[in-house]
Amino acid sequence: MTVIRSAAFIAFIALGSGCAGFSIVDRSRSATTVPAPPVAVVPVALAKPGLPERPKPEVWKRPPGPYRVALQAGHWRSAEAPEEQAQLRVNGTTGGGLEEWKVNLGIARKTADLLRSKGYLVDLLPTTIPPGYWADLFIAIHADGHPSPSVSGYRAAAPRRDATGRAEAFAALLERSYGEATGLPLYPLVTRRMRGYYAFNNRAYEHALDSMTVGVILETGFLSSPRDRSVIVNAQDRAARGIAAAVMRFLEPMPVEPRPIPQAD
Ligand SMILES: [Zn+2]
Repeated sequence: MTVIRSAAFIAFIALGSGCAGFSIVDRSRSATTVPAPPVAVVPVALAKPGLPERPKPEVWKRPPGPYRVALQAGHWRSAEAPEEQAQLRVNGTTGGGLEEWKVNLGIARKTADLLRSKGYLVDLLPTTIPPGYWADLFIAIHADGHPSPSVSGYRAAAPRRDATGRAEAFAALLERSYGEATGLPLYPLVTRRMRGYYAFNNRAYEHALDSMTVGVILETGFLSSPRDRSVIVNAQDRAARGIAAAVMRFLEPMPVEPRPIPQAD
């Protein structure tokens, strides 16, 4: 599917979702975890503001340990947003009598269940991002809104500034996978607000992602559209399957090393 993303359209469509949207709330560890690539230890994750500059991407090494995935339920606990992001405290769209954050949280929880059952570490994040938060993948889950109920579709966007160089590829993979699982149409425009999502902006905010977190924002559908609501409200399992499948394709488990054969004396 061809995706049109002209700057003019992007500028034009700045309405859409009231999306913008933080503390680790639910961090669980499964008994069996997905092995992650072995890497040298460079403790750059969770760097605190005021510390020396982060290492350049080319010398950055992933912290060791199993894959960690962050699912942010957009606008969840928005009233707790920190002072520097006070504008997030009232936000989110409504549709079909529902508040966006409830829809986002429902999909995020179902996605987390799927991924945890496969051995991934999953953090469910509310509006407030822990300062310098790092994960292999961060997905902000939102829903759009529009005055016309006939406007329908989902879309994903990577940060305008992406030090990992991998977010665009993950956004494309997520769009494919989400579309396959939900049957919803791809909405062919992304907004500046999506690409400039506050969580991606660690230059402006302390409560933002570490530069080496591969981050995307997913607008799961329009809450104002009956067709989209039939999935994002009434069939959240399908939405969750689409997101989880993309994560699993992107974070390939390492092949299991052959076990040494015991030698007889
Ligand atoms: Zn939103």
